[in-house]
Amino acid sequence: MIPPMAAPSGERILVVEDEPAFADLIAMWLDRHGLRPIVAHDGLEAVRLFEAEQPDLILLDLALPGLDGWEVIRLIRAASIVPIIVVTARGAVADKVRGLVEGADDYVTKPLSFPELIARVRAALRRSQTFGPAGELPEIRFPGLVIDERGHRVVVEGQPVHLTPTEYRLLRHLGQHPDVVLDRRELLVAVWGAGYGDDVHLLRVTMRNLRAKLAAIAPDRRFITTSYGLGYRLNPSREDPDR
Ligand code: CA
Repeated sequence: MIPPMAAPSGERILVVEDEPAFADLIAMWLDRHGLRPIVAHDGLEAVRLFEAEQPDLILLDLALPGLDGWEVIRLIRAASIVPIIVVTARGAVADKVRGLVEGADDYVTKPLSFPELIARVRAALRRSQTFGPAGELPEIRFPGLVIDERGHRVVVEGQPVHLTPTEYRLLRHLGQHPDVVLDRRELLVAVWGAGYGDDVHLLRVTMRNLRAKLAAIAPDRRFITTSYGLGYRLNPSREDPDR
């Protein structure tokens, strides 16, 4: 085991931003809040520093020269589930959604609100470090679906599914309330935290990724159904509710 460090060990945040003055400003804010920034000024440097430093979180500007932010997400996601928060221009909804589809965990928009940025960084670190309070049962079991709370593992039809911590929390929350329609706001607050109730893109895209991973193993099952305008429901049986 690695001995604990004597110095205070703030989480290490890889800041990827090509504008040096802005990168320094973000680093200063992180440092002031007890986090340890590492700065990369382009995509290649970001990938190199990610491999060398193994940061706890990545704050990634999407508009980068050379290797762009999308490429950086793909390269890092191929190797790691480290939380990635993308930085996009205000109102660039398509960019936000694409960032989430590619595997980012959250987004912030420019011009940055630094208190909001710090809050989102902390929330993402919390989500990545804990799987949230466990339920009363060591495992949640339905036909063809096991959510193992002790190992934070999900098994579909006997095969393990590799979920990100956020996808796991989303499935687990649905599994704790089988056959009940949970509204979007409730899911956002339960899975992402207070202050995320309106971030419907986060829920929609994470739900899409989660469903795709479940369907890759059991294409004929509908584990999660959508009640349009209401929310989502875990279908605890093998039967398709619409048939
Ligand atoms: Ca930029």
